[in-house]
Amino acid sequence: MACPGAGEAPVWVKTGPVMSDGSQVPVVKEIPPKAADLSAWYTAVCLKAELVSYSPVRGCVVLRPYGFGLWENLQRHLDERFKATGHENAYFPLLIPESLLMKEAQHVEGFAPEVAWVTQGGQEELAERLAIRPTSEVIIGTMYAQWVESHRDLPILINQWANVVRWEKATRPFLRTMEFLWQEGHTAHASAREAREETERMLDVYRDFAENVAAVPVYAGIKSASERFPGAIETYSIEALMPDGKALQSATSHDLGQNFARAYDITFTDADQQVKHAHTTSWGMSWRMLGAMIMTHGDDRGLRVPPKMAPIEAVFVPIVRSNDDRALQACRQTADELSKAGFRVRVDARDEQPGWKYSEWDLRGVPVRIEIGPRDVEAGTAVVVRRDRPKGDKQQKQTVSLETLPRILPALLDDIQRSLYTQAKQFLEEHTFRTQDRSQFFDMCRNRAGMVEIPWCGRPECEAHVKAETGATTRVLRDLAGSALCVACGEPAKVNAYFAQSY
Ligand SMILES: [Zn+2]
Repeated sequence: MACPGAGEAPVWVKTGPVMSDGSQVPVVKEIPPKAADLSAWYTAVCLKAELVSYSPVRGCVVLRPYGFGLWENLQRHLDERFKATGHENAYFPLLIPESLLMKEAQHVEGFAPEVAWVTQGGQEELAERLAIRPTSEVIIGTMYAQWVESHRDLPILINQWANVVRWEKATRPFLRTMEFLWQEGHTAHASAREAREETERMLDVYRDFAENVAAVPVYAGIKSASERFPGAIETYSIEALMPDGKALQSATSHDLGQNFARAYDITFTDADQQVKHAHTTSWGMSWRMLGAMIMTHGDDRGLRVPPKMAPIEAVFVPIVRSNDDRALQACRQTADELSKAGFRVRVDARDEQPGWKYSEWDLRGVPVRIEIGPRDVEAGTAVVVRRDRPKGDKQQKQTVSLETLPRILPALLDDIQRSLYTQAKQFLEEHTFRTQDRSQFFDMCRNRAGMVEIPWCGRPECEAHVKAETGATTRVLRDLAGSALCVACGEPAKVNAYFAQSY
């Protein structure tokens, strides 16, 4: 078996499973260099590190156990943050009657091209089509209308962990799939102010998660009108910058105003005895965030998973000589102690060469590898290797005493977490540009230089022109200090806009 990650060029062989349309999916033999072709590298890593497999249904992927481990860590950290901000989890149905979906006009228009429909149950054709949820504002709004009567019933602060379906032909694991996993928060409030505060609070929860758990630095801000969620009065998002200079929207938070409350009749009697419409919000992060994390941190050897997201924080590789399994015993004993202390560890006792195992765990991005050989057993030591450092780096390996390992490991994991964030932050800063020059602005957008920040007029036609000329759109908007002219068109500027091409 070839050493994973050792290849120079991508090798794709068409021997994968047959899809529903008769085509075959590629099987990865080697991982191509990341800098040469990010897209090929990304797909190869997702498949070879066993995060996902293509399924027989085009557009859908199978999340394998190691990939699901990443998702579980995302869930755990986000869920903690949702609970800490007063939210509860619930679950709503997958199917939405067509008549309900049609009630909010902008929402329908925005989602119509990607809705999948159920038209038949068993042998029977349905009298009314059922939509498979592309998002759940409709069904949740309908229920809130039943639950809310008085201002005392507000706010409602509910989150659901679910799958949604948006019809999609292309398949890119985590980034573009027909069915995907996400969470969607849906809240209802008595006042516009509370709804806006909620929208901003959850945006900050996402920013905090992205930066402090996934170690992905982001720009947070408001979306332009053309990028707004269908039916929202304001959409906020966090945007990360990928190594190819394209932005990746990683989570959104929407102030829905009273649009959905009007369409779904969410009313309440206020303290002044007036009947009023509630103000609602929705906010979501999907497994797309995992795609951002993979692209941001990975290298030519494969994934580099930030410790807080790592299904396995440290892997033990025993170096076993024939008729001497003391190294394996030492690994098992130490791993057992670490596991009891709350660390996520694994012992790789497979009958393979240590070098092969090193490459395998490098590919999977396990933050720390702990090697124990016969000489270490006698000395009571282990060699600790960091995945965040390049091979041959002075600080990549250190010999430590086995006894001190439980004390050293937390600081080591923290340091790796920090170092991955710092590297990504440096990349973002080095690839964020500010310019006052119109032609330079267009060139940078066209060449995918990164995030290009300019004073901007806020006019949809200006944004459409930039998009037609360069492929770039506004990613987020922020307040403009002082007065300036729009760098893209020369009209008076109203905001600061970050432009980039995007995923
Ligand atoms: Zn303009």
